[in-house]
Amino acid sequence: MPNENQSELRKIPSVEKVLSDPALAPAIGRYSHPVVAATVRDVVDRIRQHAAAGGAVPPFEAVVEMVSYHLAAAWPGLLEPVINATGIILHTNLGRAPLPPAAVEALSKLLGGYCALELDLATGERGVRAQSMEKLLEMATGAESALVVNNNAAAVLLVLSTLARGREVIVSRGELVQIGGGFRVPEVMAASGAVLREVGTTNQTFIRDFEAAVSDQTAMLLAVHRSNFAIRGFSHDAALPELKELARQFDLPLVYDLGSGALADTAAFGMSHEPTVAEALAAGCDIVCVSGDKLLGGPQSGIILGKKAYIDRLRKNPLLRALRIDKYAAIALTATILQYLKGQTAELPVYRMMAETLESLARRGDDLVEKLAGAGFSAEVVDGESLAGGGSLPDETLPTRLVAVEVKGSMDDFCRRLRLGSPPVLGRVHEGRFVIDLRTVFPAQDDELVMAMAAAGNSKTCS
Ligand SMILES: *Cc1c(COP(=O)(O)O)cnc(C)c1O
Repeated sequence: MPNENQSELRKIPSVEKVLSDPALAPAIGRYSHPVVAATVRDVVDRIRQHAAAGGAVPPFEAVVEMVSYHLAAAWPGLLEPVINATGIILHTNLGRAPLPPAAVEALSKLLGGYCALELDLATGERGVRAQSMEKLLEMATGAESALVVNNNAAAVLLVLSTLARGREVIVSRGELVQIGGGFRVPEVMAASGAVLREVGTTNQTFIRDFEAAVSDQTAMLLAVHRSNFAIRGFSHDAALPELKELARQFDLPLVYDLGSGALADTAAFGMSHEPTVAEALAAGCDIVCVSGDKLLGGPQSGIILGKKAYIDRLRKNPLLRALRIDKYAAIALTATILQYLKGQTAELPVYRMMAETLESLARRGDDLVEKLAGAGFSAEVVDGESLAGGGSLPDETLPTRLVAVEVKGSMDDFCRRLRLGSPPVLGRVHEGRFVIDLRTVFPAQDDELVMAMAAAGNSKTCS
């Protein structure tokens, strides 16, 4: 029995022979030799098991094809741009805000060499990390002082740990939010060593609830922006000016975790008005924390703005060394803030996508429908809505024009082939059709999108 398939077993190619096949050279160039070698070993092992169980060994070319297929499935999108056809501008799982070209230029100019990250060129002495970035932020927001860390979660953690460790922080029960996969206000509070003192109810919190909770244990009043959900109907919140007045009476800092952190008026770009950093500061917040990669349109970062006396204390917290912004983000954020100061907000990708007109989307859509027809797809332009903010802005939609595509066979398989293609494509499924929202597709990607669709549509390989 064990020897019956000996002749098949002898046909199994060696790992070396498969690896040295010229057809795999581009894969080695892309994925590196160790990665391809591991996949070849894996494929050859499976063939050996299959043959040992009495199966046939595929021809050599088929083995090489299997290796290519397994590489694409195991390392999809490796260092490759993804085409975001979902219409979600701030897509958390696709890296949130795409950087403005000015930031990309600054990165490519500075990253390969040295830059004055922490050196004061005027004195030749050690300086504050990315000091000009913080000065620019002060100018762009009107804040007395600014400090930038790794992300907004780090910003909130640093503020709580510095100003409220071992003491109480009063928060409305309607604002104990969870953002994305990991940021939960009560848990960040616990990690910082501050004690959560929740007041009011989920839908109704009044200033008197805050007032009743103030004691000699209180370290701060905290307001949190409901970034990813909304409470409608029978609801009430304590207003920022009321909180400010209470904070002033008891000499407490009022901290606002604003989250999305718009510097510009989103209403000027077709959306409803999101509170801006300047408004939050003008309303009397002592400290405002925002993300750099949401409505601000820059790199991942956490921006702390407000009173210098508090920010100076944050700078002395040893945690700052662990939470600080990295060099790459500092360069990109500096270039992004400069865009605002130069009056070039409309050139930030986030705002350009918001402002993209229905006419322009329909024109690109018609063009895409025609090209897709050439690739064997039946499609049409239909009305729809873009979910502008994804998880960052609750039920904030923009009217849009969508390209709705008929798909033959399993929609799940088609979407999977698109995701595993090169470049990977993400879209939406609506009423049995694959739906493309060109709002978040860069015009330069339109042709690549057609090629990716054609490759997924014609592929015979199913998952
Ligand atoms: C997004 C958000 C956070 C988390 O910010 P990251 O930059 O993702 O760490 C915290 N609080 C609020 C209110 C947010 O909207």
